[in-house]
Amino acid sequence: MRQVISISVGEIVLKGKNRKNFENALIDKIRRALVDIEVEKVYKEIGKIFVELKNDEDIDRAIARVKNVFGIVYISRCFRVDKDLKLAEDAIMAAISHANIKDDFTFKIIASRADKNFPLTSPEINRHFGGFVLKNYDGAKVDVHEPEFPIYIDIREYIYVYIGREKGLGGMPMGTNGRGLVLLSGGIDSPVAAFMMARRGIRINAVHFHTYPYTSERAEKKVLDLAEIVSRYTGPMTVYSVNILEINRAIAENCYENNMTILSRRMMMRVAEKISRLNKYDALITGDNLGQVASQTIKSLKVIDKATDMLIFRPLISFDKQQIIDISESIGALETSNLPFDDCCTIFAPKHPNLNPRLEQILKEEERLDIDNLVNRAVESAKVIKID
Ligand code: ATP
Ligand code: MG
Repeated sequence: MRQVISISVGEIVLKGKNRKNFENALIDKIRRALVDIEVEKVYKEIGKIFVELKNDEDIDRAIARVKNVFGIVYISRCFRVDKDLKLAEDAIMAAISHANIKDDFTFKIIASRADKNFPLTSPEINRHFGGFVLKNYDGAKVDVHEPEFPIYIDIREYIYVYIGREKGLGGMPMGTNGRGLVLLSGGIDSPVAAFMMARRGIRINAVHFHTYPYTSERAEKKVLDLAEIVSRYTGPMTVYSVNILEINRAIAENCYENNMTILSRRMMMRVAEKISRLNKYDALITGDNLGQVASQTIKSLKVIDKATDMLIFRPLISFDKQQIIDISESIGALETSNLPFDDCCTIFAPKHPNLNPRLEQILKEEERLDIDNLVNRAVESAKVIKID
Protein backbone atom coordinates (compact mmCIF):
# COMPACT_ATOMS: atom_id res chain seq x y z
CA MET A 1 0.00 0.00 0.00
CA ARG A 2 1.26 3.45 -0.90
CA GLN A 3 0.06 6.89 0.12
CA VAL A 4 -0.29 9.32 -2.77
CA ILE A 5 -1.74 12.79 -3.24
CA SER A 6 -4.66 12.94 -5.63
CA ILE A 7 -5.43 16.19 -7.36
CA SER A 8 -8.74 16.89 -9.09
CA VAL A 9 -8.20 19.08 -12.09
CA GLY A 10 -10.43 22.12 -12.56
CA GLU A 11 -12.05 23.70 -15.62
CA ILE A 12 -13.57 20.43 -16.74
CA VAL A 13 -15.20 22.23 -19.64
CA LEU A 14 -11.83 22.41 -21.35
CA LYS A 15 -11.59 20.02 -24.24
CA GLY A 16 -9.01 18.32 -26.45
CA LYS A 17 -5.70 20.06 -26.89
CA ASN A 18 -6.59 22.82 -24.41
CA ARG A 19 -7.17 20.28 -21.73
CA LYS A 20 -3.84 18.57 -22.41
CA ASN A 21 -1.98 21.90 -22.25
CA PHE A 22 -3.82 22.75 -19.05
CA GLU A 23 -2.86 19.44 -17.44
CA ASN A 24 0.76 19.64 -18.54
CA ALA A 25 1.07 23.23 -17.28
CA LEU A 26 -0.48 22.14 -14.00
CA ILE A 27 1.94 19.22 -13.61
CA ASP A 28 4.81 21.61 -14.22
CA LYS A 29 3.53 23.97 -11.49
CA ILE A 30 2.99 21.08 -9.08
CA ARG A 31 6.56 19.89 -9.63
CA ARG A 32 7.86 23.41 -9.04
CA ALA A 33 5.89 23.73 -5.82
CA LEU A 34 7.59 20.54 -4.64
CA VAL A 35 11.18 21.37 -5.67
CA ASP A 36 12.66 20.62 -2.28
CA ILE A 37 10.57 17.51 -1.61
CA GLU A 38 11.64 14.20 -3.13
CA VAL A 39 9.05 13.13 -5.67
CA GLU A 40 8.92 9.55 -6.94
CA LYS A 41 6.56 10.33 -9.81
CA VAL A 42 3.69 12.48 -10.97
CA TYR A 43 1.17 10.75 -13.22
CA LYS A 44 -2.17 11.40 -14.87
CA GLU A 45 -5.24 9.19 -14.86
CA ILE A 46 -8.47 10.42 -16.45
CA GLY A 47 -9.31 13.81 -14.90
CA LYS A 48 -6.89 13.47 -12.00
CA ILE A 49 -3.22 13.94 -11.31
CA PHE A 50 -1.43 11.80 -8.73
CA VAL A 51 1.76 12.60 -6.87
CA GLU A 52 3.79 9.82 -5.35
CA LEU A 53 6.56 10.96 -3.00
CA LYS A 54 9.73 9.09 -2.02
CA ASN A 55 8.74 9.37 1.66
CA ASP A 56 5.19 9.28 2.94
CA GLU A 57 6.22 11.52 5.89
CA ASP A 58 6.48 14.43 3.45
CA ILE A 59 2.83 14.24 2.41
CA ASP A 60 1.45 16.93 4.76
CA ARG A 61 4.13 19.38 3.71
CA ALA A 62 3.57 18.54 0.05
CA ILE A 63 -0.21 19.02 0.34
CA ALA A 64 0.29 22.42 1.99
CA ARG A 65 2.45 23.46 -0.97
CA VAL A 66 0.25 22.07 -3.69
CA LYS A 67 -2.76 23.82 -2.17
CA ASN A 68 -1.39 27.17 -3.39
CA VAL A 69 -1.17 26.02 -6.99
CA PHE A 70 -3.87 27.44 -9.27
CA GLY A 71 -5.91 25.01 -11.36
CA ILE A 72 -6.70 22.52 -8.61
CA VAL A 73 -10.23 21.86 -7.36
CA TYR A 74 -9.68 19.19 -4.70
CA ILE A 75 -6.69 17.59 -3.02
CA SER A 76 -6.65 14.45 -0.94
CA ARG A 77 -4.34 12.03 0.74
CA CYS A 78 -5.07 8.61 -0.74
CA PHE A 79 -4.24 5.10 0.25
CA ARG A 80 -3.47 3.28 -2.99
CA VAL A 81 -3.67 -0.47 -3.51
CA ASP A 82 -3.89 -2.88 -6.43
CA LYS A 83 -7.34 -3.69 -7.73
CA ASP A 84 -8.43 -6.21 -5.15
CA LEU A 85 -11.31 -6.05 -2.66
CA LYS A 86 -9.30 -7.39 0.26
CA LEU A 87 -6.50 -4.88 -0.31
CA ALA A 88 -9.08 -2.11 -0.57
CA GLU A 89 -10.42 -3.13 2.85
CA ASP A 90 -6.91 -2.76 4.25
CA ALA A 91 -6.73 0.69 2.64
CA ILE A 92 -10.01 1.69 4.32
CA MET A 93 -8.65 0.63 7.70
CA ALA A 94 -5.46 2.60 7.07
CA ALA A 95 -7.44 5.68 6.01
CA ILE A 96 -9.71 5.46 9.07
CA SER A 97 -6.77 5.02 11.40
CA HIS A 98 -4.96 7.97 9.79
CA ALA A 99 -8.05 10.19 10.05
CA ASN A 100 -8.11 9.70 13.83
CA ILE A 101 -11.79 8.90 13.79
CA LYS A 102 -13.37 8.63 17.24
CA ASP A 103 -15.34 5.63 18.43
CA ASP A 104 -18.78 6.81 17.32
CA PHE A 105 -18.97 8.24 13.84
CA THR A 106 -21.19 8.49 10.82
CA PHE A 107 -19.91 7.70 7.35
CA LYS A 108 -20.89 7.05 3.80
CA ILE A 109 -19.05 5.19 1.07
CA ILE A 110 -18.78 7.17 -2.15
CA ALA A 111 -17.62 4.89 -4.92
CA SER A 112 -16.52 6.06 -8.29
CA ARG A 113 -15.63 3.66 -11.03
CA ALA A 114 -13.44 5.15 -13.75
CA ASP A 115 -12.59 1.55 -14.69
CA LYS A 116 -15.85 0.35 -16.19
CA ASN A 117 -14.56 -3.24 -16.39
CA PHE A 118 -14.40 -3.59 -12.64
CA PRO A 119 -16.71 -6.51 -11.72
CA LEU A 120 -18.80 -4.63 -9.12
CA THR A 121 -21.05 -1.65 -9.92
CA SER A 122 -20.86 1.51 -7.81
CA PRO A 123 -23.92 0.57 -5.66
CA GLU A 124 -22.40 -2.87 -5.12
CA ILE A 125 -19.10 -1.32 -4.08
CA ASN A 126 -20.93 0.98 -1.66
CA ARG A 127 -22.76 -1.96 -0.15
CA HIS A 128 -19.70 -4.15 0.11
CA PHE A 129 -17.51 -1.58 1.85
CA GLY A 130 -20.35 -0.09 3.88
CA GLY A 131 -20.89 -3.58 5.31
CA PHE A 132 -17.18 -3.94 5.92
CA VAL A 133 -16.96 -0.70 7.95
CA LEU A 134 -20.12 -1.51 9.97
CA LYS A 135 -18.76 -4.95 10.82
CA ASN A 136 -15.32 -3.73 11.91
CA TYR A 137 -16.19 -0.52 13.77
CA ASP A 138 -18.80 -0.83 16.54
CA GLY A 139 -19.59 2.89 16.72
CA ALA A 140 -19.98 3.33 12.95
CA LYS A 141 -23.32 4.41 11.51
CA VAL A 142 -24.28 5.17 7.94
CA ASP A 143 -25.54 8.66 7.20
CA VAL A 144 -26.10 9.16 3.49
CA HIS A 145 -27.03 12.84 3.76
CA GLU A 146 -24.49 14.44 6.07
CA PRO A 147 -21.82 11.92 6.97
CA GLU A 148 -19.02 13.13 9.24
CA PHE A 149 -16.63 11.01 7.21
CA PRO A 150 -17.25 10.51 3.51
CA ILE A 151 -15.07 7.56 2.50
CA TYR A 152 -14.19 7.81 -1.17
CA ILE A 153 -13.31 4.70 -3.15
CA ASP A 154 -11.98 5.51 -6.54
CA ILE A 155 -11.49 2.58 -8.88
CA ARG A 156 -8.99 3.25 -11.66
CA GLU A 157 -5.67 1.62 -12.65
CA TYR A 158 -5.38 1.17 -8.92
CA ILE A 159 -7.91 1.53 -6.11
CA TYR A 160 -7.59 4.80 -4.21
CA VAL A 161 -9.23 5.22 -0.80
CA TYR A 162 -9.48 8.58 0.92
CA ILE A 163 -11.53 10.28 3.61
CA GLY A 164 -12.65 13.84 2.99
CA ARG A 165 -10.94 16.20 0.61
CA GLU A 166 -9.52 19.68 0.80
CA LYS A 167 -10.59 22.45 -1.51
CA GLY A 168 -7.96 23.86 -3.87
CA LEU A 169 -7.89 27.41 -5.20
CA GLY A 170 -9.44 26.55 -8.57
CA GLY A 171 -8.60 28.70 -11.59
CA MET A 172 -6.05 28.03 -14.29
CA PRO A 173 -2.35 27.14 -14.05
CA MET A 174 -0.05 30.14 -13.93
CA GLY A 175 1.19 31.44 -17.24
CA THR A 176 -1.49 29.80 -19.39
CA ASN A 177 -3.09 33.20 -20.08
CA GLY A 178 -0.36 35.71 -20.82
CA ARG A 179 1.38 38.28 -18.66
CA GLY A 180 0.00 41.19 -16.69
CA LEU A 181 1.27 44.19 -14.77
CA VAL A 182 -0.63 44.98 -11.59
CA LEU A 183 -0.63 48.52 -10.23
CA LEU A 184 0.20 47.60 -6.68
CA SER A 185 -0.50 50.19 -4.00
CA GLY A 186 -0.18 49.46 -0.32
CA GLY A 187 -3.93 49.05 0.05
CA ILE A 188 -6.19 46.06 0.47
CA ASP A 189 -7.54 45.97 -3.06
CA SER A 190 -4.65 45.68 -5.48
CA PRO A 191 -3.04 42.56 -3.97
CA VAL A 192 -6.46 40.89 -4.13
CA ALA A 193 -6.85 42.00 -7.76
CA ALA A 194 -3.44 40.51 -8.56
CA PHE A 195 -4.43 37.24 -6.91
CA MET A 196 -7.75 37.08 -8.80
CA MET A 197 -6.15 37.59 -12.21
CA ALA A 198 -3.28 35.23 -11.39
CA ARG A 199 -5.92 32.64 -10.65
CA ARG A 200 -7.06 33.00 -14.25
CA GLY A 201 -3.58 31.97 -15.34
CA ILE A 202 -2.03 35.42 -15.87
CA ARG A 203 1.61 35.69 -14.87
CA ILE A 204 1.89 38.70 -12.58
CA ASN A 205 4.41 41.50 -12.34
CA ALA A 206 3.87 44.71 -10.39
CA VAL A 207 4.49 48.42 -10.52
CA HIS A 208 4.35 50.61 -7.44
CA PHE A 209 4.30 54.40 -7.43
CA HIS A 210 5.67 56.40 -4.55
CA THR A 211 6.68 59.96 -3.84
CA TYR A 212 9.77 59.41 -1.71
CA PRO A 213 10.83 61.30 0.46
CA TYR A 214 7.20 62.37 1.01
CA THR A 215 6.35 58.70 1.35
CA SER A 216 8.46 56.65 3.73
CA GLU A 217 10.79 53.74 3.13
CA ARG A 218 8.52 51.74 5.36
CA ALA A 219 5.66 52.36 2.94
CA GLU A 220 7.78 50.91 0.15
CA LYS A 221 8.81 47.96 2.29
CA LYS A 222 5.13 47.30 2.95
CA VAL A 223 4.42 47.10 -0.78
CA LEU A 224 7.33 44.72 -1.32
CA ASP A 225 6.00 42.58 1.53
CA LEU A 226 2.63 42.51 -0.22
CA ALA A 227 4.32 41.55 -3.48
CA GLU A 228 6.06 38.73 -1.65
CA ILE A 229 2.73 37.51 -0.26
CA VAL A 230 1.15 37.57 -3.73
CA SER A 231 4.19 35.75 -5.15
CA ARG A 232 3.50 32.78 -2.87
CA TYR A 233 0.68 32.06 -5.30
CA THR A 234 2.00 33.55 -8.52
CA GLY A 235 5.64 32.51 -8.35
CA PRO A 236 8.55 34.84 -9.10
CA MET A 237 7.67 38.38 -10.11
CA THR A 238 9.37 41.62 -11.03
CA VAL A 239 8.37 44.74 -9.11
CA TYR A 240 9.03 48.16 -10.62
CA SER A 241 9.21 50.85 -7.97
CA VAL A 242 8.66 54.22 -9.60
CA ASN A 243 9.05 57.65 -8.02
CA ILE A 244 6.36 59.97 -9.35
CA LEU A 245 7.25 62.97 -7.23
CA GLU A 246 8.35 64.93 -10.30
CA ILE A 247 5.12 64.00 -12.08
CA ASN A 248 2.89 64.94 -9.15
CA ARG A 249 4.78 68.19 -8.68
CA ALA A 250 4.37 69.09 -12.34
CA ILE A 251 0.64 68.43 -12.02
CA ALA A 252 0.37 70.38 -8.76
CA GLU A 253 2.18 73.37 -10.30
CA ASN A 254 0.38 73.46 -13.62
CA CYS A 255 -3.12 72.11 -13.17
CA TYR A 256 -6.25 72.65 -11.09
CA GLU A 257 -5.93 71.06 -7.69
CA ASN A 258 -9.28 69.33 -7.99
CA ASN A 259 -7.99 67.28 -10.93
CA MET A 260 -4.85 66.08 -9.15
CA THR A 261 -6.06 62.54 -8.52
CA ILE A 262 -7.34 61.93 -12.00
CA LEU A 263 -4.29 63.46 -13.69
CA SER A 264 -1.91 61.55 -11.47
CA ARG A 265 -3.76 58.31 -12.12
CA ARG A 266 -3.62 58.90 -15.89
CA MET A 267 0.14 59.37 -15.60
CA MET A 268 0.43 56.13 -13.61
CA MET A 269 -1.39 54.39 -16.45
CA ARG A 270 1.01 55.82 -19.00
CA VAL A 271 4.06 54.78 -17.00
CA ALA A 272 2.56 51.31 -16.57
CA GLU A 273 1.86 51.16 -20.29
CA LYS A 274 5.44 52.07 -21.15
CA ILE A 275 6.83 49.42 -18.77
CA SER A 276 4.43 46.91 -20.34
CA ARG A 277 5.50 47.73 -23.89
CA LEU A 278 9.17 47.38 -22.96
CA ASN A 279 8.58 44.04 -21.25
CA LYS A 280 5.78 42.65 -23.43
CA TYR A 281 3.12 42.54 -20.74
CA ASP A 282 -0.32 41.97 -22.22
CA ALA A 283 -2.58 43.80 -19.78
CA LEU A 284 -2.75 46.14 -16.80
CA ILE A 285 -4.53 45.12 -13.60
CA THR A 286 -5.88 47.48 -10.95
CA GLY A 287 -7.79 47.10 -7.70
CA ASP A 288 -10.44 49.62 -8.75
CA ASN A 289 -13.86 49.10 -7.27
CA LEU A 290 -16.79 51.09 -8.61
CA GLY A 291 -17.77 54.05 -6.47
CA GLN A 292 -15.34 53.38 -3.63
CA VAL A 293 -13.29 56.61 -3.90
CA ALA A 294 -13.06 59.75 -6.07
CA SER A 295 -10.97 58.10 -8.78
CA GLN A 296 -13.50 55.30 -9.06
CA THR A 297 -16.68 57.06 -10.12
CA ILE A 298 -17.85 55.84 -13.48
CA LYS A 299 -16.82 59.14 -15.11
CA SER A 300 -13.36 59.03 -13.54
CA LEU A 301 -12.77 55.46 -14.62
CA LYS A 302 -13.80 56.39 -18.14
CA VAL A 303 -11.31 59.27 -18.29
CA ILE A 304 -8.54 57.16 -16.72
CA ASP A 305 -9.19 54.42 -19.27
CA LYS A 306 -8.51 56.83 -22.12
CA ALA A 307 -4.94 57.51 -20.95
CA THR A 308 -3.69 54.34 -22.66
CA ASP A 309 -5.03 51.89 -25.16
CA MET A 310 -3.97 48.91 -23.09
CA LEU A 311 -6.32 46.20 -21.99
CA ILE A 312 -7.11 46.95 -18.33
CA PHE A 313 -8.48 44.33 -15.97
CA ARG A 314 -10.36 45.51 -12.88
CA PRO A 315 -11.41 42.21 -11.35
CA LEU A 316 -12.83 43.81 -8.17
CA ILE A 317 -15.05 46.29 -9.92
CA SER A 318 -18.30 44.74 -8.70
CA PHE A 319 -17.20 43.45 -5.31
CA ASP A 320 -18.44 44.61 -1.94
CA LYS A 321 -15.69 45.74 0.39
CA GLN A 322 -16.33 42.83 2.76
CA GLN A 323 -15.82 40.31 -0.05
CA ILE A 324 -12.48 41.92 -0.86
CA ILE A 325 -11.46 41.90 2.79
CA ASP A 326 -12.37 38.22 3.08
CA ILE A 327 -10.19 37.29 0.10
CA SER A 328 -7.38 39.49 1.39
CA GLU A 329 -7.51 37.65 4.68
CA SER A 330 -7.67 34.23 3.05
CA ILE A 331 -4.51 34.89 1.02
CA GLY A 332 -2.71 36.22 4.09
CA ALA A 333 -2.40 39.84 2.92
CA LEU A 334 -4.87 41.70 5.15
CA GLU A 335 -2.62 42.31 8.12
CA THR A 336 0.12 43.81 5.97
CA SER A 337 -2.34 45.88 3.91
CA ASN A 338 -3.75 47.32 7.14
CA LEU A 339 -0.39 48.73 8.26
CA PRO A 340 -0.79 52.49 8.44
CA PHE A 341 1.88 53.86 6.07
CA ASP A 342 1.12 56.73 3.74
CA ASP A 343 0.37 56.13 0.10
CA CYS A 344 1.55 58.73 -2.40
CA CYS A 345 -2.04 59.69 -3.17
CA THR A 346 -2.82 60.63 0.41
CA ILE A 347 -0.17 63.33 0.34
CA PHE A 348 -1.18 64.91 -2.94
CA ALA A 349 -4.89 64.29 -2.45
CA PRO A 350 -7.01 67.34 -3.31
CA LYS A 351 -9.48 68.64 -0.73
CA HIS A 352 -12.35 68.53 -3.24
CA PRO A 353 -11.55 65.95 -5.89
CA ASN A 354 -13.38 66.29 -9.18
CA LEU A 355 -15.90 63.44 -9.25
CA ASN A 356 -17.21 64.23 -12.71
CA PRO A 357 -14.18 64.86 -14.90
CA ARG A 358 -14.74 65.46 -18.60
CA LEU A 359 -12.14 64.14 -21.02
CA GLU A 360 -11.84 67.40 -23.03
CA GLN A 361 -11.19 69.37 -19.87
CA ILE A 362 -8.56 66.90 -18.65
CA LEU A 363 -6.84 66.81 -22.05
CA LYS A 364 -6.66 70.61 -21.96
CA GLU A 365 -5.02 70.50 -18.55
CA GLU A 366 -2.53 67.94 -19.76
CA GLU A 367 -1.37 70.28 -22.54
CA ARG A 368 0.51 72.08 -19.79
CA LEU A 369 2.55 68.96 -18.98
CA ASP A 370 5.50 67.55 -20.89
CA ILE A 371 3.97 64.11 -20.75
CA ASP A 372 6.43 62.07 -22.84
CA ASN A 373 9.39 63.43 -20.98
CA LEU A 374 7.86 62.92 -17.55
CA VAL A 375 6.86 59.35 -18.40
CA ASN A 376 10.24 58.47 -19.89
CA ARG A 377 12.15 59.85 -16.94
CA ALA A 378 9.95 57.99 -14.46
CA VAL A 379 10.39 54.71 -16.34
CA GLU A 380 14.14 55.17 -16.70
CA SER A 381 14.59 55.79 -13.00
CA ALA A 382 12.42 52.84 -11.94
CA LYS A 383 13.99 50.56 -9.38
CA VAL A 384 13.61 46.94 -10.50
CA ILE A 385 13.22 44.37 -7.76
CA LYS A 386 13.04 40.63 -8.41
CA ILE A 387 11.01 38.54 -6.05
CA ASP A 388 11.41 34.77 -6.25
P1 ATP B 1 -5.98 49.85 -2.98
O1 ATP B 1 -6.67 49.28 -1.79
O2 ATP B 1 -5.50 48.81 -3.94
O3 ATP B 1 -4.94 50.88 -2.61
P2 ATP B 1 -7.93 51.87 -3.18
O4 ATP B 1 -9.26 51.39 -2.79
O5 ATP B 1 -7.10 52.61 -2.18
O6 ATP B 1 -7.10 50.64 -3.75
P3 ATP B 1 -7.30 53.87 -5.12
O7 ATP B 1 -6.31 54.47 -4.21
O8 ATP B 1 -8.23 54.72 -5.87
O9 ATP B 1 -8.19 52.76 -4.44
O10 ATP B 1 -6.52 53.04 -6.19
C1 ATP B 1 -7.18 52.30 -7.16
C2 ATP B 1 -6.16 51.43 -7.85
O11 ATP B 1 -5.15 52.23 -8.48
C3 ATP B 1 -5.41 50.57 -6.87
O12 ATP B 1 -6.10 49.39 -6.56
C4 ATP B 1 -4.14 50.29 -7.62
O13 ATP B 1 -4.32 49.28 -8.60
C5 ATP B 1 -3.89 51.61 -8.33
N1 ATP B 1 -3.02 52.47 -7.47
C6 ATP B 1 -3.38 53.46 -6.65
N2 ATP B 1 -2.32 54.00 -6.03
C7 ATP B 1 -1.23 53.31 -6.47
C8 ATP B 1 0.18 53.38 -6.19
N3 ATP B 1 0.71 54.23 -5.35
N4 ATP B 1 0.98 52.50 -6.85
C9 ATP B 1 0.47 51.59 -7.71
N5 ATP B 1 -0.83 51.50 -8.00
C10 ATP B 1 -1.68 52.34 -7.39
MG1 MG C 1 -5.05 52.92 -2.22
